[in-house]
Formats: sequence, C-alpha cells, structure tokens
Amino acid sequence: MNITVAGLGVSGISAARALAGFGASVTVVDGGDSEAHREKAALLKEAGISVRLGDASTLPDGTELVVTSPGWKPSSPLFAAAAAAGVDVVGDVEIAWRLRGPNAAPWLAITGTNGKTTTTQMLASILAAAGLRTAAVGNIGTPIIDVVLEGDAAYDVFAVELSSYQLHWAPSLRAHSGAVLNLAPDHLDWHGSMEAYAADKGRIYEGNQVACVYNVADKATEDLVVEADVEEGCRAIGFTLGTPGPSELGVVEGILVDRAFVGDRQKSAQELAEVTDVHPPAPHNVANALAAAALARAFGVEPRAVREGLRNFRPDAHRIEHVADVAGVAYVDDSKATNTHATQASLASYESIVWIAGGLAKGATFDELVTGAAKRLRGVVLIGADRALIREALQRHAPEVPVVDLDRTDTGAMSAAVQEAARLARTGDTVLMAPACASMDMFTNYNKRGEAFAEAVRELGATSV
Ligand code: ADP
Repeated sequence: MNITVAGLGVSGISAARALAGFGASVTVVDGGDSEAHREKAALLKEAGISVRLGDASTLPDGTELVVTSPGWKPSSPLFAAAAAAGVDVVGDVEIAWRLRGPNAAPWLAITGTNGKTTTTQMLASILAAAGLRTAAVGNIGTPIIDVVLEGDAAYDVFAVELSSYQLHWAPSLRAHSGAVLNLAPDHLDWHGSMEAYAADKGRIYEGNQVACVYNVADKATEDLVVEADVEEGCRAIGFTLGTPGPSELGVVEGILVDRAFVGDRQKSAQELAEVTDVHPPAPHNVANALAAAALARAFGVEPRAVREGLRNFRPDAHRIEHVADVAGVAYVDDSKATNTHATQASLASYESIVWIAGGLAKGATFDELVTGAAKRLRGVVLIGADRALIREALQRHAPEVPVVDLDRTDTGAMSAAVQEAARLARTGDTVLMAPACASMDMFTNYNKRGEAFAEAVRELGATSV
C-alpha cells in the first residue's frame, strides 16, 4: 500500500518505520526544510522510506492512505487534498487498531479533559493486581503501535489513554468499554469548537461492547453515551462522589461501592475500597479511581483486586505532589494543572491556600475559577506572561484576597514566588502551585516548572532551619 505520513516528528517517524516494516511504501511529508529536517530524512531514507520536505499541502501521487501526527489540525490543506482524492486520513491509534491480530487483547479506553493519565495508570494497577498481563498505552508511555506489534499472545487487556486528537483520527476503534472522565473547554483551537471537541471525545463510546462509563456530575459526558451507537447489551455506567444509584459506582460513608456489577443477587452493593486507599484522596482523584474501578469491574475484576490496585498506585510527579512541609506549611506541586479545570480540582482539595499561578493562558478566562476558590484563598502570587488576566479576575471577584504580582517571566521567578508565598502563609496553610496555564513562557515544559518549584521549596527549608 502507498501510505503518506504527515509530519517528521516523533510519532510520524515511529508510524513510518512500523508501516514500512509491514511492507508498505511510505512517504513522509513535512512543510519544513531545515538542516534538522534533512538529517532526519537521511536516516529514514536509509530504511527505505521516502521523504518530501518543503511541501505539506499537496498529496503525493498514488497515495492510498494518509497517517497523521497529533499536531496537524483537521483543517490542514493536506487533509483537504486527501478528502478531494477520496483517501482516508487516520492516526496512530487507528493504525494500531487495524494492525492488531484476531485474538488481540481487548481495550479499556479512557479520555476526558483532565485525569486521563492518572486514571489509565490506576486502571493498569488494578488489572495487574488481578493477575492480568496488561500495559498502560496510548497517549502515555509506549507508543500503542509498538505494543500491538508484540503480538496477540503477550497481553490479556490494555488500559488505553486516548486524547481527543487520537479519537478524531480513529474511526474504526471499538473498545470493550470506554470512559469519558469530564469535559471542559481545552484545545479548542485544534478542534474548532466545543461541539467538535465533545464529539471527538464521544467517539470513545462508539461500538463499546460492555460498558460506557460516564461522570454523573458532568452531564455532557452522559449525553455522549446517549448519542453513541453501541453493541447490544452494552450498559451505561455512572460514577459519582455521592451515593450511587443502580448502575452506578459511588461513595457511601468513606467507602467506594459498586451498585452496577454486583453479581451476588443477595446484595444490592459491593464494597470495593476505602477512600483512604486512593492516593491522593482528593475528590477529583476519588472520581478517577471510581472510573478506573468501573472499567475494571466491566472487565470482571474482583473487588479485592480493585482495592489492592488502588493501594499500590502512586500518581506521577507534578500532579498534586506534596513536596515538603516548611514551618507548618505544606508545599504542593500541581504543575500539571495547565488549564483552569484541573486547577479548580486542586484548589477544591485544600482549605486555606496560598496559590501560585500564571503562565500562558491559551485563551482561557479565569472568572469562574477565581469565584469558586475565593473563600479558600489566603493569598495569591502571580508569575508568567498572562498573569494580568488572573489578577483582573481576582480584582473583579475576590478584591479582599491579597495578591502579589511579581511581574516576572524569568526562570528565577519561581524561587521569588515561593518566598512571597511563604510570607503570606500561616501555620496549617497549603502553598499550592497549580498555575492554570501552560508553562512554555518560562520553562521548557511543566516538568521543569515543577522541578523549579521543588528546588525553591528546598531552598526555603534550608534557610528557615
Ligand atoms: P491528563 O492526562 O488528562 O492531562 P493527568 O492525570 O495527567 O490528566 O492530570 C492532569 C491535571 O489534572 C493534574 O493537575 C491533576 O491534578 C488534574 N486532575 C486529575 N484528575 C482530574 C479530574 N478528574 N478532574 C479535574 N482535574 C483533574
């Protein structure tokens, strides 16, 4: 088959190599033509892969399929050219789905605006505790194509994290069960509108065999289940932080309970785990645990393994990570809170907060976030390019909260911000770095921002002794 791969990035190169390995005749196209592009092109050419640089808008002659990379918007001219020629455009997840064998392990799929990685890892931990051979794949860790190429016999089940981009380009994916954790505006520049973004997320439910898992507190996720075309017998399963109804998982007096997959007819609910088995036991994270548990239970996993899997699980760095206590104040790194929805969840997790925020706002507004958090804020320290947007929202909705605007975008600003926060904090408070913004105005990525915060807290600890 003649396949055109869009983009000479990491995922484009991985897809090109895998497809060439299957005997396809592959051409990678990229609009760039720099020295770096030419070096990568030379390596691919050695592997028998053609590369066309400097033209990203026309379709190479004879193309039968286009494989795209996440950064390419659906409106890219190359895809219009493909549509005009009647050629399909697909992403890496679709390729993996098509390449898997007839006895391949089922996919338990997870998407949502926030919590995807955490929930996928929790699910993998639960599946492993049940003695199943599993891997967390997709928009996380190992590229999904590589795992599928290991063959059908290597795994029993996959925990698959899917981004809205991947779902957009995976038309034939049919998961065993799927979950949409939540829906809030994000990546709208790529999708074009909130409706288009939601519709792409909703693709995760298409053709589900056993369960469509939705968030009872987020009606938009339930609406997507209603719209989906699923296999006969597939059930809608809700998760809630409140008391669960029938066909729901929820929380009763500090216990995670399952009323959807009860099994034993004598019982109306099955106890799964305690809230304190979830790390950290913040409300949004308990919701993630319930979603992971719902998918695992849909796959037949026993309650005991749900509990053990949750107990074994620890979140990745920079996600509500407790860095240290200094002088009776807790310092928490939630650098991964790169949008307002994620920050809302972490601000709701603490009572009295000195909040460090700011960075690149990506078109977001902060009024709702600030209004919801106002009562919990001891003070706010602002850094980064778009800090004025947050400052103005605070002036409008929480004028009584003290704000220190550092007026800085250099890397050293984090250390100054931590010192200012320490001055504002009282014993028992939490200094929370949950910026509600992307990091690229000041740091290479959110990891570097989190590391700068942790380093500043260490310096503070050293000087306060
Ligand atoms: P994703 O893979 O979707 O980006 P992560 O698990 O990496 O999600 O978490 C990203 C950020 O969102 C973190 O800052 C975390 O604290 C926050 N978060 C995690 N789960 C949720 C949730 N269910 N609702 C809102 N925010 C969440």
